Amino acid sequence: MKKRIYLSSPHMCGHELAFVNEAYETNWVAPVGKNIDNFEQDLCNYVGVNHAVSLSSGTAAIHLALILLGVVTGDEVICQSFTFCGSANPILYQKAIPIFVDSESETWNMSPEFLEKAIKDRIKKGNKPKAIIYVHLYGMPAKIHEIHKIADGYEIPLIEDAAEALGSTYKGRQSGSFGDFAVLSFNGNKIITTSSGGALLGNDKALIDKARFLATQARDPVPHYEHSTIGYNYRMSNILAGIGRGQMRILDKRVEQRRNNYKFYNDELGNIEGLSFLEETKNVKSNYWLTTVLIDPRKIGGITRESIRLKLESENIESRPLWKPMHMQPVFKDAPYYGDRLSENLFENGLCLPSGTNMTNYDKQRVVKAIKKYCRDA
Ligand SMILES: *Cc1c(COP(=O)(O)O)cnc(C)c1O
Repeated sequence: MKKRIYLSSPHMCGHELAFVNEAYETNWVAPVGKNIDNFEQDLCNYVGVNHAVSLSSGTAAIHLALILLGVVTGDEVICQSFTFCGSANPILYQKAIPIFVDSESETWNMSPEFLEKAIKDRIKKGNKPKAIIYVHLYGMPAKIHEIHKIADGYEIPLIEDAAEALGSTYKGRQSGSFGDFAVLSFNGNKIITTSSGGALLGNDKALIDKARFLATQARDPVPHYEHSTIGYNYRMSNILAGIGRGQMRILDKRVEQRRNNYKFYNDELGNIEGLSFLEETKNVKSNYWLTTVLIDPRKIGGITRESIRLKLESENIESRPLWKPMHMQPVFKDAPYYGDRLSENLFENGLCLPSGTNMTNYDKQRVVKAIKKYCRDA
């Protein structure tokens, strides 16, 4: 059996070890320490925000953002439907109600048109949404200007889920710098990783300080353990922050490498009738965290997303369907939904190709050869 090619696996650069070693040698094996402070500063400098708190996951960051925005039981929160469940689950942690909004076809992210429809309808029904969570899926920046204009018009705060988009830019500005809060993830499959981890970013010092307080079991500033609110154990370890500091040094290169993966696949497969790739629109730069391909079975002899996936799997190559929209998930079946089912079609016909930065040219050749051969034989 040939070596397995993974969808997106961790890729260390070597700089991580010195920071991890220092934490070990100085015995800061704890959820406080120099690596954490420095990693948070690195994130602020890179993204262009004033404050950041590193956390145990991106999901924790979204949860804290909702709490800081005052989301409580019965509140409604608008969320992009076409995303990973980490964007939406925290709405339920707060016993709030998710309102799902579908995507538009240019970026596959939140449709401004359906966003406005949803807001108007929810207000008409007497429950104005408390927050909006939008996503830059697969690294492709959403229609930020349009989304923000609508949200600002109704004075609804925005949570920018940039978990997949560190290093992507919109009109030259880094993603993660737009929302009232922004969220990053350093899970093992993301563009840079701390094995698991996340961060909450923002420009309001008091709010990010409050997030840090809530993430540390909401410990009041007295000598004994005193708690006047319920907190969480959401902080990042100083060891993992050391990995993050090392990874930040190579981030720009990783963005370039992911973009090269996309270009390679597009060059090799883009002219096969029935296969198509999502392209950047004007003014955006995607980190192309994952390269995705859409399959049109009518144009390609009945080949489907699933038949390509199984073909690749038989060659020990991992690929994955696009995210299954949240409004189709059994756990969210009762949640209101606004859209025209575009994301259902993307889920049905889209595939994520292996996109790790540690793939060799030979690995990438294996992937395109398998797909080309399969499409030719069909
Ligand atoms: C990965 C991811 C998250 C959550 O991150 P975790 O660190 O895994 O909790 C949230 N939203 C999106 C879109 C993601 O891809």
